[in-house]
Amino acid sequence: MCYLSQVERDRCNKQNDIIPANMTETRDAETHHLIGGALCLDFANTLYGHTNAIHEYLYDYRDLVLWSRHVGILNQAEAGNLLSKWEQVPAEAEAVFRQAAQLREKIYRIFASLVHDGSPQETDLDQLHQAWLDSQAHTKLVWSENGFMLGWEMTNAIDSMLWRITGSALELLTSDELKRVKQCVRCDWLFVDRSRNQKRRWCSMSACGNRVKMARRYERTKQIG
Ligand SMILES: [Zn+2]
Repeated sequence: MCYLSQVERDRCNKQNDIIPANMTETRDAETHHLIGGALCLDFANTLYGHTNAIHEYLYDYRDLVLWSRHVGILNQAEAGNLLSKWEQVPAEAEAVFRQAAQLREKIYRIFASLVHDGSPQETDLDQLHQAWLDSQAHTKLVWSENGFMLGWEMTNAIDSMLWRITGSALELLTSDELKRVKQCVRCDWLFVDRSRNQKRRWCSMSACGNRVKMARRYERTKQIG
């Protein structure tokens, strides 16, 4: 799934690949299964098991950049620039990574709480809103064939991926699709249920659906036997 507007995609396609040649190892962040249906939920899903950390997809700032490129919110050139920064100013990059980890948990807590009819914590909502207010300073009006739209300034800011993730969270929170946000019945991944009958129960058939069905089949076989 690509989260870029057409204008951004066109710009992205014109960029040359400047990912450093030594970055050839494939990281988990680059193969993350994007089932969330919204950028912010896919970001929350980069940790499988928020209470017991079964599978972590983001171990450092490099992973954050590679994941951002994987989901399409950074193009090749921007990712290449930020990977250079990761080497040049590691302490700054590490601070952004910590900020990203906090943002991820905030987003997870808010949406998981809403799924289960709980009330999200006031402090989480306030902090997310404040992060969104800060990020809006980096937006700009972009002309497209359908008129003006809100885009993002061209920048090499080390935390630019967080602006878009924060924007996605606010967009989903204030949209009609909020009531379609669900959590997998087997794991803790979040997703927007856009199925026609809105009865989707798991993150994906291959990851959890088949295992739930196999477990049920096994239970039935045991009872018959
Ligand atoms: Zn699942």
